[in-house]
Amino acid sequence: MTKLSRRDFLKLGGAALLGISANTFLPLPQEANFTAPLIWNGSRKYKTMAFTYDDCYLLYRMQSLEVLLDEFPDFKVTFFPVGSKIVDLEQQDPGIWKRLVGKGHEIGYHTFDHVNIGVMSPAAVLMDFDKWSDTLNQVLGTTYNVRFVRPTYDVISYTLDVLCQERGLVAALFSIGGGGEPETVVPAIQKGKGGDIVQMHIRTQDYNSSVQAFPWLKENNWELVTLSRLYDDYLRESINSDGCDVDTGSSLTRTCLE
Ligand SMILES: [Zn+2]
Repeated sequence: MTKLSRRDFLKLGGAALLGISANTFLPLPQEANFTAPLIWNGSRKYKTMAFTYDDCYLLYRMQSLEVLLDEFPDFKVTFFPVGSKIVDLEQQDPGIWKRLVGKGHEIGYHTFDHVNIGVMSPAAVLMDFDKWSDTLNQVLGTTYNVRFVRPTYDVISYTLDVLCQERGLVAALFSIGGGGEPETVVPAIQKGKGGDIVQMHIRTQDYNSSVQAFPWLKENNWELVTLSRLYDDYLRESINSDGCDVDTGSSLTRTCLE
């Protein structure tokens, strides 16, 4: 899943892996003490955006989004379903999650019942994450490597920090948020920058915005990538500002971006 080599990770060291956040955002009070990785956007150097879809409450909107995504096979997105809906949608449309993962889309944690992580105890959130993760593994029939959490209600909290540290997750916030009707969302996306993380929900207005935004993004040579891809590019950039690992060490190969 990751495109970083083991050597890249070793070079990054602890300091670089921790506390990565966009300098375009002033730290929120809760964010100041946050020690786990937290991102608001990816690298600004690449013409990529990560579209994310939270909650995933509506089966028919998930299905229509899947049909839309099929029309843009290069576009990959990330879903943040609540655990109860992983079960519910699987019952209504068996294989839906396996299908989406098979098509290259990503799935991240958003709690089992949409409880505010900030009011949960660390022990409770770890249990909740494990329940959510077991549920996902069950419907996928395999062990899925969850890398991202989208905090419910976008609340950055101590409990979220503990969760990220204990389960090796990255907290994924967003640089274009909220979704909504195409009249407001599409212009915001058209003004978007490389590395933007776009937050949507599985609901009609956000689906309609996606319908209008996708062809424009395609025509304008934007690439929609999973959060994993966005984050790996981001880490790569932090290794070397040119995105190129020049310290070859004992290796005969050089890791460079295209
Ligand atoms: Zn939510």
